[in-house]
Amino acid sequence: MSAPGTPSPSADVVLEVKDLKKHFPIRKGLFSSVVGHVQAVDGVSFSIRRGEALCLVGESGCGKSTVARTIARLEEPTAGSIVLNGTDISALGEGEIRPYRRQMQMIFQDPYSSLNPRLTAGEIVSEPLTNFGLAMGSDLQARVASLFERVGLRADAMAKYPHEFSGGQRQRLGIARALAVSPQLILADEPLSALDVSVQAQVLNLLIDLQDELQLGYLFVSHDLAVVEHIGHRIAVMYLGRIVEIADNASLFDTPLHPYTEALLAAAPVPEVQRTKRERIILTGDVPSPSAPPSGCRFHTRCPYVRPECSRIDPPLVEVAPGHHVACLLRPGPSAGHAAP
Ligand code: SF4
Repeated sequence: MSAPGTPSPSADVVLEVKDLKKHFPIRKGLFSSVVGHVQAVDGVSFSIRRGEALCLVGESGCGKSTVARTIARLEEPTAGSIVLNGTDISALGEGEIRPYRRQMQMIFQDPYSSLNPRLTAGEIVSEPLTNFGLAMGSDLQARVASLFERVGLRADAMAKYPHEFSGGQRQRLGIARALAVSPQLILADEPLSALDVSVQAQVLNLLIDLQDELQLGYLFVSHDLAVVEHIGHRIAVMYLGRIVEIADNASLFDTPLHPYTEALLAAAPVPEVQRTKRERIILTGDVPSPSAPPSGCRFHTRCPYVRPECSRIDPPLVEVAPGHHVACLLRPGPSAGHAAP
């Protein structure tokens, strides 16, 4: 079976993730015995095609950044497959995965900590080109200069060190470094959240322009619904390590079908995110621990529409309308009709 939201077979799929899991062991005691696991990501499936931005959204701790880091193989997957341009990279060793790292690059939340403070900006962008043997000499200089220009940095910035840049400039530098090896997939982990509000829109528009121009696939992780609405072609909503709803941008923002998505949108402070005037749903209770997720539907401890069976039955992610998948017992699928919450 295809991952939810899988494009038609003719479409150019860059990434297909199936049933991805990342569980972190909890160790205690003198001998660091494993006493449990944090189920940070617990069975996530989706695909991304060329030129498409899939956004992962959800509250802090829902596992969205871990999804991106596991796909980048900065974390070892516990289970599942990560198929990048037709090759499953989930079990490749460090040496084997190296050529695939060129095909996907990561943009991090904190551009400062992701840049080597001892290298000049020019050296930072040159590094991946020389590491992969893609350019040298005058060709290298020309390619770095072109990347600087493309991300809106002046050529004289090449001689500066990261601490001499503003936050927005450092993120532009991070983007230039990611683009240097001509990747097809960008994994962007909250790339705007460390920036001043005044520069967020500029960096967001740069990312959108680059995607359009280079037909990049984006996995864009964010907690900010206004940003997600602006950049996402499709949106996946995560709760406690799982995707609970995935749909195209218009469907998700106009007709959210999962109670958790409804609550997220209703709580959004930005009016344009709330395209439909909806009752404000206040979620009660804390997010349960991912080391001991609730039985049945993981959202049942906070859901305003909870039914007795919700604590027993774990609802699968089902397609209730073309391309619109939801994991909720109130949404049994098109053949069984729609039950309004
Ligand atoms: Fe709420 Fe039940 Fe649907 Fe879970 S399955 S979201 S608890 S109504």
